[in-house]
Formats: sequence, structure tokens, C-alpha cells
Amino acid sequence: MLDPFGRHISYLRVSVTDRCDFRCVYCMSENMTFLPKKDVLSLEELERLCSVFIDLGVRKLRLTGGEPLVRKNIITLVRRLSSRLGRGLDELTLTTNGSQLTRFAMELADCGIKRINVSIDTLNPEKFSHITRWGRLDQVLEGLAAADAAGLQIKINAVALRGVNDEELGDMLQWAGDKGYDMTVIEVMPMGDMGEESRLSQYMPLSMVRSKLSERFTLTENTFRTGGPARYVDVKETGGRLGFITPLTHNFCESCNRVRLTCTGTLYMCLGQEDAADLREPLRRSEANDALIEAIHEAIDRKPKGHDFVIDRRNTAPAVARHMSVTGG
Ligand code: SAM
Ligand code: SF4
Repeated sequence: MLDPFGRHISYLRVSVTDRCDFRCVYCMSENMTFLPKKDVLSLEELERLCSVFIDLGVRKLRLTGGEPLVRKNIITLVRRLSSRLGRGLDELTLTTNGSQLTRFAMELADCGIKRINVSIDTLNPEKFSHITRWGRLDQVLEGLAAADAAGLQIKINAVALRGVNDEELGDMLQWAGDKGYDMTVIEVMPMGDMGEESRLSQYMPLSMVRSKLSERFTLTENTFRTGGPARYVDVKETGGRLGFITPLTHNFCESCNRVRLTCTGTLYMCLGQEDAADLREPLRRSEANDALIEAIHEAIDRKPKGHDFVIDRRNTAPAVARHMSVTGG
């Protein structure tokens, strides 16, 4: 699949549920209304859709959410999709908040998952409860230990939050290095209404994070690319790698290879734009895949050049109305 700007689309991110057992302050408001069940694709429908994408050239699949591991019987889907590894699919992976990993880490590894991303923004239990509203740090740390024991490679995702964890990111980087985890810091993106929380007060440019980390660590540019938006540096003192995802201060659209599917079968061609294509209707209309394939090609033909997130005093409203949990980051 080739988009109008010559970018090969080989990466599909699938939000398997809009539900979550946390309510992170930058991702959801405390009172979220979730989708009615009839609107959500069944696991069989999700598998069929993913399978068609693989046939069309997708090589990497990431399951996300909401929290992917709270979707009922999610391992059934992981197991079915993993049967395409080496048969079109190069990698199947997952982004999780880690709360259910004690239960699922072994099974995930058994399905052929090699690497997972775990989102943790702080190692301070009180701050963790404040950021996630409903989460418990010890549960996530136990999950990480289970993932380690299962042999999964772990990358920590941390959203940089002004005045909340910005002073702590150096300690987290050291901790991640000691544990053998890579780490990526992410700029907070203006998606969805946050209720009480103000974007401007959350936003912390990563240029500032980087210069602060440079006082303590020797960071050298690394050409490592996952095909994703992160730019990496080596951290001499830990021997690990640190990624920066900077959608606001440094736009990464020119090399974008991905599209995002929601749990209702809506395909977003760009994280930062509203345009989307409904794949559920052609999926449910017929058991044959022709209409679905046509709808996917039409959607890829509309993939925009990029997004234009801005957060400043004049732009505090969300750039897009949907929450990050709809598309899963
Ligand atoms: N629940 C899983 C988790 O937290 O890893 C997967 C879904 S979550 C929406 C995926 C990633 O998006 C997480 O790393 C989270 O920190 C990040 N995220 C959520 N809202 C964000 C926002 N407004 N700006 C930047 N990153 C955000
Ligand atoms: Fe849930 Fe992940 Fe959003 Fe936090 S970031 S509320 S864990 S979906």
C-alpha cells in the first residue's frame, strides 16, 4: 500500500477496546462514556480485518487501546494473529499499562510476542496514583517483573508532564537502564477534552527534557529507527537507548508508515487529523473481502501529509476531539 506521498504503509496499530482500568489525566477524563458493545468489532471481525491488512502489505501489528489486556479473551486474538508471524507478518506487539501483565506475560511470550511497550510516567507510588487516577504502581511493577521472567523485551513509555514527572525522568532513565529496558519520552498531545486538566499546564517540550538529562547523562545521536516517530540517543552511563517522540516541537510525518484502526472498525490515516474511513460497514456487508479491500485502498489514497499540533496560550483546545484511548497512541 502506497499513499499519495509515496510512503509505504506497512504498520497497523489496532485499538482493541476503548475501555481501560486506568484514567490517566492526559488521556481520559474521569467520567468517560464508553462505546456500546454492538458498535465494537468482535474478536473474529478484528482478526479478519487485520488479516486483510496483512495480505495488503502490513508487516507490523501493534495491539493497543484503551488497555488491550482488559479486552475479554484478548489472548484468543493474539494467538490467532500470531499464526501470521513469518507468513506476511514480521512483528506482533503490544502497548500496555502493565496492570494485567502478571496474568498474561507468559501467554504473550508463548504466542511469539518478543517486545512490549509499557507506559509508566513515574516511579513514585503517590504520583502514579495521581496520574493514572485508578492505578497502583506496585501492580505494574509486578507486571514488569512477570514480563521480564517471560523473556519479553520491554520499552518504557513515559509522557513528560510539566511539574509532575519532569524532575524525575533522569532517575527513571537510570532505573530503566539498570533493568535493561529502553525508554521513550513522549510530548503530551492535545487530544480529547480532559475535563479539569489543562493541556498548557501539562505540556513540557522535550527539548527541555533533553537538555536537563544531558546534565547527568552522555547522550549521543543514534541512527536506530523502528520506522516510528521516535528519534533515539545512546545513553553512555546506562548502556541503554532513549527515544524522544516530539509531535509538537518536531513533526515526524514525512516518514510515517502507519495507520490506526479503532475497535469499531474506523481507520484513522493520521493521529492528528479527524478524517477517517469506516471499515465496519464493508466488513459486515459481505463475507467476501472485495468491498473491504476497496475501502482500505480508498482510505490510504486519502492519507494526509501530516498533522499540525500546537499547544500555546491561544491554542489550548484539543486539536482533535477524540481521546488518545480511541486510537491507542
Ligand atoms: N493503555 C495502554 C497504555 O497506556 O500503554 C495503551 C493505550 S495508551 C492510549 C498508548 C500511549 O499513549 C501511552 O503510552 C500513553 O501514555 C500515551 N498517551 C495517552 N494520551 C496521550 C496524550 N494526550 N499525549 C501523549 N501521549 C498520550
Ligand atoms: Fe488507559 Fe493507557 Fe489511556 Fe492511561 S494512557 S488511561 S492506561 S488507555
